[in-house]
Amino acid sequence: MSEPSPARPSVVVLGGGYAGINVAKSLDDVADVVLVEPKDAFVHNVAALRALVDPGWLPRIYLPYGGLLSHGRVVQDRAAKVDAGRVTLASGEELAADYLVLATGSSYPFPAKSDVDRTVDAHEKTLGTHAALAAAARVLLVGAGAVGVELAGEIKAVWPSKQVTMVDVADDVLGGPFRPELKAELRRQLAGLGVQVLLGSPLVAAPPTEPGEPGAFTVQTQAGTEVTADIWFRCYGVIPVSDYLAGGLAGARGADGHIEVTPTLQVAGQDRVFALGDVSTADRKVAGAAGRQAVVVAGNIRALIEAGPDAAGIALAEYELSPPGIVVPIGPEGGSGQRPDSEDLLPPEMVAQLKGRDMMVDRFAELLGVPAAAPAPGGPPEG
Ligand SMILES: Cc1cc2nc3c(=O)[nH]c(=O)nc-3n(C[C@H](O)[C@H](O)[C@H](O)COP(=O)(O)OP(=O)(O)OC[C@H]3O[C@@H](n4cnc5c(N)ncnc54)[C@H](O)[C@@H]3O)c2cc1C
Repeated sequence: MSEPSPARPSVVVLGGGYAGINVAKSLDDVADVVLVEPKDAFVHNVAALRALVDPGWLPRIYLPYGGLLSHGRVVQDRAAKVDAGRVTLASGEELAADYLVLATGSSYPFPAKSDVDRTVDAHEKTLGTHAALAAAARVLLVGAGAVGVELAGEIKAVWPSKQVTMVDVADDVLGGPFRPELKAELRRQLAGLGVQVLLGSPLVAAPPTEPGEPGAFTVQTQAGTEVTADIWFRCYGVIPVSDYLAGGLAGARGADGHIEVTPTLQVAGQDRVFALGDVSTADRKVAGAAGRQAVVVAGNIRALIEAGPDAAGIALAEYELSPPGIVVPIGPEGGSGQRPDSEDLLPPEMVAQLKGRDMMVDRFAELLGVPAAAPAPGGPPEG
């Protein structure tokens, strides 16, 4: 990579998710920031399942990038080939980068994450799936992790009489480094809503229909339980997006697709290339961790810029792993969670206040400079 230009160095941020928007905004005053993102809006996917059951939330979770940066620019394109100092976009345009930030996150099956670039198309897709779900009497969720548990809760909050069944090969719900008492509490609440939870046995074969498409089917678990449903959703499958790495950066891509980073969140072997969020090996794959990593990455790039020719001698900040904590809503008013600093589980009222009612939309609307939109009539109550 060439020496950074002394006046206003260029920072190219790939990916405008939770990690990328925070880094881009934080460096807007000291660098020429270019944020590359294929979508025309930031997607607050933490609330995507709420928007599936209540599409009045759609305008609140697709937030245009127009108000994010005052000085820098957002390029609607996709990184196709990326080496240490040079980014080639899908359009063929080339960007030179004094500092490069890899924040391309992960994909996850719809509806938890969107695979559509234009907001208008994404809304249409969600509305179609909402209609299919509304018409289905019986729903199968394959996967009982956080997404499966949340989706079961969202469906039951809107349609209490729908039959909802969850299947997982794991022996308990939620997975991850979480307390058995939390998993038991989530199971208790799901049972109270009438959700059938089948654990410890995978399906013999996947349903014959596509996920999210209407059509009755019967499947069987290996333990022999039959489930008949009218629609199903895949609630597992986080895949890091890093297939664009080339040249000297290709070696930083691990066998599972994650990008190897040092404690300072630099890509292994690179001084001015950083990676964070779901695409990196930095921590658990949660937006909260991505936000905390963004503070470290932006601070380190700022320090390097300010040090100028003396950059080689400065000590960069190290990212500290976040202790296990989680907030799992079951609909707007239910759910539980655990905090690192407390033995007690979060009661439903606290979960509703922290996340379940407003799904934290306002803080992202503020970051993106979008006036907070009111929920559509009939939407969940505000926290
Ligand atoms: C249903 C659901 C609920 C969740 N709830 C929570 C929660 O309550 N709290 C929490 O902390 N976490 C939660 N998570 C996890 C959280 O969503 C992720 O950890 C978070 O999205 C990671 O942010 P990121 O910026 O690293 O990646 P992403 O959010 O995946 O963003 C990556 C961006 O990069 C873009 N991109 C992809 N490829 C390219 C390319 N080649 N060039 C340029 N740009 C590209 C994508 O379009 C995307 O906008 C939830 C996840 C799901 C699915």
